[in-house]
Parts: sequence; structure tokens; C-alpha cells
Amino acid sequence: MSEKANIGVVGLAVMGSNLARNLASREGNRVAVYNRSVERTNLLVSEHPEANFIAAADIDAFVSSLAKPRTAIIMVQAGPGTDAVIHQLTERFEPGDIIVDGGNALFTDTLRREKEVSAKGIHFVGAGISGGEEGALKGPSIMPGGSKEAYQTLGPILASIAAVAEGEPCVTHVGTDGAGHFVKMIHNGIEYADMQLIAEAYDILRQAGGFTPSEIAEIFVQWNKGELESYLIEITAEVLKQVDAKTGKPFVDVVLDAAGSKGTGVWTVQTALNLGTPVSGIAEAVFARSLSSQSAQRAGNSGMASHTEAWSIADRDAFVEDVRRALYASKIVAYAQGFDAIRAGAKEYNWEINLGAVSKIWRGGCIIRAQFLNRIADAYGKNENLLSLLFDEYFANAIDASLSSWRKVVAHSSLAGIPNPAFASSLSYYDGLRAKRLPAALVQGQRDFFGAHTYKRVDLDGVFHTLWSGDRSEIETTPSSH
Ligand code: NAP
Repeated sequence: MSEKANIGVVGLAVMGSNLARNLASREGNRVAVYNRSVERTNLLVSEHPEANFIAAADIDAFVSSLAKPRTAIIMVQAGPGTDAVIHQLTERFEPGDIIVDGGNALFTDTLRREKEVSAKGIHFVGAGISGGEEGALKGPSIMPGGSKEAYQTLGPILASIAAVAEGEPCVTHVGTDGAGHFVKMIHNGIEYADMQLIAEAYDILRQAGGFTPSEIAEIFVQWNKGELESYLIEITAEVLKQVDAKTGKPFVDVVLDAAGSKGTGVWTVQTALNLGTPVSGIAEAVFARSLSSQSAQRAGNSGMASHTEAWSIADRDAFVEDVRRALYASKIVAYAQGFDAIRAGAKEYNWEINLGAVSKIWRGGCIIRAQFLNRIADAYGKNENLLSLLFDEYFANAIDASLSSWRKVVAHSSLAGIPNPAFASSLSYYDGLRAKRLPAALVQGQRDFFGAHTYKRVDLDGVFHTLWSGDRSEIETTPSSH
């Protein structure tokens, strides 16, 4: 075994320790480890002698322990902590060496860092890593950005520790500089939407259908055998089966209904707003968490009007199937929107992102892993330039088969007063995309009326304005080309 390490890990909290252990367990890797507080390093090394780590007490010893090109993965707190470690490494690394940030960085931070670090000839790779603690140890889904050159050295190392789905490692070179962290951000956004949609399905089954949490758990177990098969459906069934030991009540009934978040959903929506690409399912999921946490407003809701109309369910099996189809169709929209956002980001930042390859590396290791991603890979495999997943034959047929159930579930939920923001907004998005004419024409008229913002016509080239406060005749503000 070499005296020097082919890979190093800086930051040995839960993610870094597990990633270092994962790396050390793979043939051919020798792993150097370093943490700001030496206690963490000592603990890791003493608890895992089998890993044969090269433990460094300070950053100089860490850098000296790495074989060239030096390759180090940073797994420290996102933000200033990451900047501090990048600075320390950049001061000591040489041209050709590779710094990988495996933390949850905002992609614009990665763009900035890549510029600063690569100016010194050192490669900087922002790598999104999904799968939490267990993924880091057993095989995450890895989304590295950075240069192709860096990936030649890094790719095989990352492939050695990534999850494997259908024989393929869940890692690919996503694109240059911030592409990896961008795609990881969208992954998390889709995860928000997927979770919210599942939660809405649960709520409808419970409130309208009268099913108990354990009965709904069984419904999810059944759903997990079909086209909805996914990690999130699987764990939802587990959570719903759980009974609180203190009260004997369903676990889901003793948990405060205020959902937290760490910010990647918000980043996705903010980014999509800037790019002008609708991610309404993700946005509704983020807002639903915000609404759930408005404790003062929710506590003061007693005077609100509460007229609802009962949802009479004659056939419970048919009702469950309607909800399943509504969930599947809404899920397709959420993924279509997420992939649209990746395409919009790629255009804005000049990344060549293979959407099919992205869907493949999400099949294992990450939170949204699902069979369904194979269908997305097929769709982009057939047509790399697919304008929307909704236009792919498989997904178009799936929505066609679900549409009447989807409409029924959204309409009845609304009549019954059961909030279904992600179901409803996904259906509205679908109808918006489907519409031959949108009321945007009227919005253009309003904009022109109060702000002389001009408009285009359906029948003539050029840009026009109506003299609203004058004689209301139309003038052409930009002459047409002919
Ligand atoms: P964390 O709690 O986010 O961060 C703790 C680590 O950061 C410790 O090793 C700490 O060193 C180090 N650190 C903080 N400030 C530092 C500084 N100024 N200089 C040097 N080191 C500094 O750890 P984590 O949960 O293992 O996550 C690591 C990264 O992975 C984060 O970016 C996180 O967002 C990302 N991530 C986490 C998950 C997850 O499920 N937890 C999943 C994917 C990605 P000391 O021990 O000296 O304090």
C-alpha cells in the first residue's frame, strides 16, 4: 500500500467521516483525513483502524500526505467554513491539483470559487452529493461539476464510492464549474415537490376517504409495487406504520404539523424565478412548508369561513386509484419542471448537461431514487432536445390515462376544503401548457394601458402601442421587417 494517499477528506463530521470510510473501503484507495478540531480525526481513526487512514494533525501534514495530483474532498459546513478550507488548500496546492467541494454549496458560490481557484491553475470541482449519512457511507449519488481534465482523475475515485443502479455507478461529469451544484439544487427542489405530493395524497386519502394511517401505509406499500415505486413512497409507508410508544397513537398524529427546511428548495425557486422557468410544483411545496410553519396565523384562524361540500365516495377502490393517478400525473409535472429548470440553467451558464445522464445518476443513492427515472432516461435517450418530458410518448400516455382522475381529485378536494396546492398547481401548469390561447393577451393589454409596455399582434409583424388616453388608435413603435 502506498505511503501517500490518492485522495484526502477535510471535515470529519458525519458526512466527511462516512465518505472517508466509504473511500477507504474501496480497492485501490488510500485516504488521508483532516479536521480542524483534532478530536474528530482521532475519534475516526481510533474507531476505524481497518480504514488505514493517514491522519493529519494540521493542514500542512494533510497536504504533504497526498500523492500528486493532490486531490482533496472538502466536507465542511457550507459557507464561510468552506471558503476558509478552500483558502488553506489553495495556498498549499500546486497547479494540476484538485479541490472538490462536496458540501451543499449554492451554485453561484461554486461559480465564484471555481474562478478564484482555477486562476491559480488548480482545479475546483463543486460536487453535489445526495443520500445523507447513509448514502455517504454506502454509496451516494454524486453530481460533480468542474473541468473535464479534473474528472479524468476524480471520476474513477467517485465511481468507486457511488451507489450503483442497474450496474452503472450513480456519478457522471455533469458539466463545467457550478453545473454539479446546480443539478444537486434542482434534485432537492424535485424532492420537495415529490414529498409534498405524497403528503397531499395521504391527506386526501385520510380526510376524504376516511382511511387510517396504517391503512394508508398499506395503500402506499401497494403503490410501491407499481409505477410510483420509489424510496420516498417506501419510507412514507414506514412513517405511517409507526405508532407512538408514549401515547399509542399513530406517530403522524403526535408530530407537530410545521415542516422545516434547510434552504435548497428556496434556492431552486429563487433560481427558477431568475431564469424565468416555471417550477410551480416545487414552489408550492416550499410555500406549503412556509404556511405550515405560520403558527400565529394558523392559531388565529377561528373566524374563517368554512363552507365545504362533502365528497361522497361510492367506490373506495376507485377513489384510491383516482388519488394514485393524480399523484402520478402531478409527479410527472414536477419532474418535467425540474428538468426544464436544468435546461434553462445550462443555457444561461453555458453548460452541456446531458439530461438523460442526470436522470440515470438519480436512480440510486439519492432521496428521489425511483424506477420512474428510467423512463425519463429513455425519453431523453430517444430525443436529447425534447422540449418537455410531457411531450414524450410514454409520459403523454401516462397523463392521458390519469387526466380524468387528476381533475376529479383536484376538483373534489377543493370542494371538500382539503388543501392540495401541489396537485392543483401541477394540473393548472398542464392545462396552461396545453392551452391554444392564454389570457396573457389580456395582461399585455393591461400592461400597455397603464405603462405603454407595447404588444405584438397575432396577424402582423412589429411592436405596437394603443393610445389609451388619446383617441385609442394604434401606432407601430418598432417598424415591421417588411
Ligand atoms: P456540518 O455540521 O455541516 O459541518 C461540520 C464540519 O465543518 C466539521 O468538520 C467542522 O469542523 C467543519 N468546519 C466548520 N467551519 C469550519 C472552518 N471555518 N474551518 C474548518 N472546518 C470547519 O457537517 P456535515 O453534516 O457532515 O455536512 C458536511 C457538508 O456536507 C455540509 O456542506 C452539508 O451541507 C453537506 N451535506 C450534508 C448532508 C447531510 O445529510 N448531513 C447531505 C449532503 C450534503 P470542527 O469539527 O472543527 O468544528
